[in-house]
Amino acid sequence: LYILAIESSCDDTSAAVLHHRRTLSNVVATQRIHEEYGGVVPELASRAHQQNIVPLVYRALAEANIDKKQLSAIAFTRGPGLLGSLLVGTSFAKSLSLGLGIPLIEVNHMEAHILSHFIEAPGKTPPPFPFLALTISGGHTQLVLVKDYFDMKILGETLDDAVGEAFDKSAKLLGLPYPGGPLIDRYASQGDPGRFTFPIPKVPGLDFSFSGLKTSILYFLQRESAHDPEFVEKQRDHICASIQATIVEILMRKLKKAVAQTGVHHVAIAGGVAANSGIRKALAAAEKDLGWVTYVPPFEYCTDNAGMIGIVGYLKYLDGRFTDYRVSARARYQIGS
Ligand code: ATP
Ligand code: FE
Repeated sequence: LYILAIESSCDDTSAAVLHHRRTLSNVVATQRIHEEYGGVVPELASRAHQQNIVPLVYRALAEANIDKKQLSAIAFTRGPGLLGSLLVGTSFAKSLSLGLGIPLIEVNHMEAHILSHFIEAPGKTPPPFPFLALTISGGHTQLVLVKDYFDMKILGETLDDAVGEAFDKSAKLLGLPYPGGPLIDRYASQGDPGRFTFPIPKVPGLDFSFSGLKTSILYFLQRESAHDPEFVEKQRDHICASIQATIVEILMRKLKKAVAQTGVHHVAIAGGVAANSGIRKALAAAEKDLGWVTYVPPFEYCTDNAGMIGIVGYLKYLDGRFTDYRVSARARYQIGS
């Protein structure tokens, strides 16, 4: 049973071939064009997807060493994401499924981030149901109770910026290039996380907020730079470490609250920010100190990739959850809907 999966929700085009739960290939074309604009330009993204998609699918098939006639189904990202980007993957998947006469399977990108934990990977055991998932990515911050593959409940989410945005916007304030999240992580490893303090927002329940942090960093940098124009340059590592520690603290407080409320202590993270070493360390500490069992996906399944779309395709295939050709892309697409 082979599944071809396509991901094109934002600025990465990706194609993967899965044999049951295992990825035989998972290729990603990252669009560098957006770097010079300091953020993703939707029109440029969809054009680049159009250029990338066919060669990328051929590469995924070649790396998997299979012919397209061996495919059992095609899975694609229906949403959420940029409409123009999603349309490219959606139309491509529809046409190929029609041409090959094999089933089409739509996938919710945010469910896929979570279910990436079920891709077979060396040394990894998937979380047992129910588990808590913290999805931290460029566009989302969600705390989800996962009762089964397709039975998920959002317990809380961000009221404004996503965690990835908080990282990227803070990086921008420090004059770092886009996307700055990974750079903050790198500089933070050389800095003192306790050097500067930023306020932790008071948000009721299990929801999050990150826009206040961005504002307080802005004022902090303006204030300090007024005394010393070279402040950012001299203190870069300490500022990065302090910002990262604040973001991790915000996330961990809510996770602890969710564990206390649900009694579920199997905790998984997913999404691009799951690559962050600060959050990984905090989870490892929670295993030791709080008795949690934590799950962190392999790096290649954290940021956008078609492998995670493929695992959902496989699970839906087993369940007979196929999609008909009237399906259309959805820019906004809540999980579980
Ligand atoms: P969504 O899934 O919500 O549609 P997205 O797919 O654009 O958003 P991802 O690709 O999952 O987002 O994640 C990208 C984000 O992850 C960026 O904001 C990037 O800065 C951030 N990121 C990646 N690596 C790290 C890291 N090591 N530390 C902090 N942030 C990181
Ligand atoms: Fe994503």
